[in-house]
Amino acid sequence: MNRSWSAGFLEGLRPEQPLTVSEWADRFRKLSSKASAEPGPWRTSRTPYLREPMDCLSSESPVQRVVMMFAAQTGKTEAGSNWLGYVIDHAPGPMLCVQPTIEMAKRLSKQRLESMITDTPCLAAKIAPARSRDSGNTMFSKEFSGGIMLMAGANSATGLRSAPCRYLFADEVDAFPDDVDGEGSPLALAERRTTTFARRKILITSTPTVKDFSTIEAEYLRSDQRRYFVPCPSCGEMQWLKWGQLKWKEANPETVLYECERCKERWPERHKPQLLADGQWRATAPAGNGRTAGFHLSGLYSPLGWCSWGQLVDDFLRAKGDAPALKAFVNTRLAETWEEDYSAKVNADGLMAKRLAYEPGTCPDGVVLLTAGVDVQDNRLAVSVWGWGEGETAWLIWHQELMGDPTQTEVWGQLDQVLASEWSTASGKTLKVRQMAIDSGGHCTHEVYRYVRDRVAQGVVAIKGSSKRNSPAVGKGSKVDVNWRGKVIKRGVTLYMLGTDTIKTTLFGRLRHNEAAGSLNFGMAADSEYFQQLTSERQALRYHRGFPIREWVKKAGDRNEALDCAVYGYAAMLVFSRKMNKATMWGQLKAEMEGEKKTKLGSRQKSQPAASSFVSSW
Ligand SMILES: [Zn+2]
Repeated sequence: MNRSWSAGFLEGLRPEQPLTVSEWADRFRKLSSKASAEPGPWRTSRTPYLREPMDCLSSESPVQRVVMMFAAQTGKTEAGSNWLGYVIDHAPGPMLCVQPTIEMAKRLSKQRLESMITDTPCLAAKIAPARSRDSGNTMFSKEFSGGIMLMAGANSATGLRSAPCRYLFADEVDAFPDDVDGEGSPLALAERRTTTFARRKILITSTPTVKDFSTIEAEYLRSDQRRYFVPCPSCGEMQWLKWGQLKWKEANPETVLYECERCKERWPERHKPQLLADGQWRATAPAGNGRTAGFHLSGLYSPLGWCSWGQLVDDFLRAKGDAPALKAFVNTRLAETWEEDYSAKVNADGLMAKRLAYEPGTCPDGVVLLTAGVDVQDNRLAVSVWGWGEGETAWLIWHQELMGDPTQTEVWGQLDQVLASEWSTASGKTLKVRQMAIDSGGHCTHEVYRYVRDRVAQGVVAIKGSSKRNSPAVGKGSKVDVNWRGKVIKRGVTLYMLGTDTIKTTLFGRLRHNEAAGSLNFGMAADSEYFQQLTSERQALRYHRGFPIREWVKKAGDRNEALDCAVYGYAAMLVFSRKMNKATMWGQLKAEMEGEKKTKLGSRQKSQPAASSFVSSW
C-alpha cells in the first residue's frame, strides 16, 4: 500500500521517466476476448518484430517519423493501439488520429480504442466513460490529463485542420484520398499540425496499393528501409524472408518450405518462433537525417497460428490468373505494391485483332449518342466520331483527316459536313453528332473560336488540354469571348479545360479491361495506322519534389492524333452529359432515338445525304 502510494507520487513528479512503448504494453496492456483472438496480457515476445517500431515511438527515441508498410495479420494495428495507450497513460499530449474516412475513425474510436480503455485498468482510470455527460469523452475526442486524442477522417479537411498536435497517427494511408476538399494531400495537411513540436512523433501505417501511386511505399522509400533479418537454422546466415524463397510441391500448400538463400537448405515453418526471436531490423538504405525509421514486413513473418506459409501459398494458388485477386494477395499478404502495366496489355496489334465487323460511318446496336473530337494540326483537322451507350460504352464510328489549312475556310466547310451528316444505326434509324469538342490549344486558336462561335447551338465547344496533374477530366468551362469593351459575351464561345492525363488514364484502363459496360470498341473505321496513333503514348515515371508522378509521354516521332481525338470525343460526351440527368441519361437518349423514327418516318429520304455516301466522298 505504502509502496504503491510512493510509486504513484514519484510518477507524478516525473511523468516521463524512461519507459518504452513495448515495456508499457508488456506491463499494462490487456487484450479483450471481444477484440482479440488471443485475449489476455499483451506480450511483445509473440511478435518480436513489433518491438523496434513501437520503441521508436517512445519519448526517449530520437526518431520522429515511423513508417510501417506491413502485411495484414502481422499485428500492426495492435502496435498502433499500444502507442495510443502509452500516450494516454505515460506521455500525454495532444494527438490526432487520422483514418481514411470519418466512418473508419468512428470504428477506431468505438471498437478499438474504447475496448482497449475498458480492458486496460490504468487507461480506464484516466478516461471517463463516453456515457457520462461533460466527461470530455466523445466519439471523436477523448480528453485525459495532459492531453487530448482527436479522431478524424482523411476525407474531410475540417478534422485535419485541428489545433497543433504533438502526435499524429495516420492509419492505412494508401486508402486516403489524393486531395481533400481542394486542400491537397490529407497526410501533408495533418502533418502540418505537428510542426510546432520539437519532440513530435508521427506514425504512418498501411498495406500498400499500386506501384508508384502508393503513399506508404513512397514514405518507405524515403526512409532508411529496414527489413527484419532472421538467421538460417542451418548456416546462420542473416536474411530477410522473401516470397520467392518459399518452395512447395505442385498445388500442395502443405509441402511448403523456406529455402535459405545461402546454403539452399530448406526449413519448415515450425522454426518461425525461434527465427522471430533471434531476428533484428537492419536498415537497407542510408539513414538520411535519422528522423524517419521505415519498416517493411510481409505476411511470411506472421506468428504461428495467425497466417501460415501454407495459407499464403493457398491464397496465391487461388488468386493466380485473376488480376484483382492477385493484386489483393500482393498488397495485403506480401505488403508489396502492385505493378499496373498498361503498355503490356494495350498494343496496336492486339486491338487490331479484336476489331468488330461494323462498317465505318455506321452505328452498331447500343449507340444512342454521337460526339466528335477534333484535333487541329497546321495542315489538317483530324476528326473522330464516337458512339456512346449505356454505361459509357463507346464505339468508334468514323475517323478521318480533313486536309486543308485551318487558317483558311475550306477545311472548316468539310467539318460542317460532319456536323450535318446523319449516321445510320443498326436498327435503321439515324443519329447526328450532338456535341463536338475542338482543340483550341494549337496555333489556330482564333480560327477555332470563330468556327465555334457560330455553332454554339449545334453543340460545338472549344477545349484545351491542361498540363496540371490530377485535374478533373473536364473543367467548369469559361466564357472566352469579350466585346470591344472587354465585357464577356453571354452567348459566346465556352472554353473547357481538359485533364488530358486523367482522361487518358481512364480510356487506357477501359481498353485494358475490356468489360462489356464502359468498353471501347472499334470497327472497320480503325486501321493499323489508327491503332499505332492510339497507342503512341506511354505512362512514364518522373519525380517532382521527391514525389513519383506518372505522366503520359509520346514516343519520339510518333503521331498521336487518334488518341487526342478519342480524348476530345470522350470530353464531348462528358460535356453533353452535364445537360442531362446522369441517372436517366442513357434511357432517355434511347427513347429519343426510338421516337425519332416515328416523327421522321418518310422524311428521312429527303434529308441530308446518309453518312455512308458522305464518307465515300472523301
Ligand atoms: Zn542457410
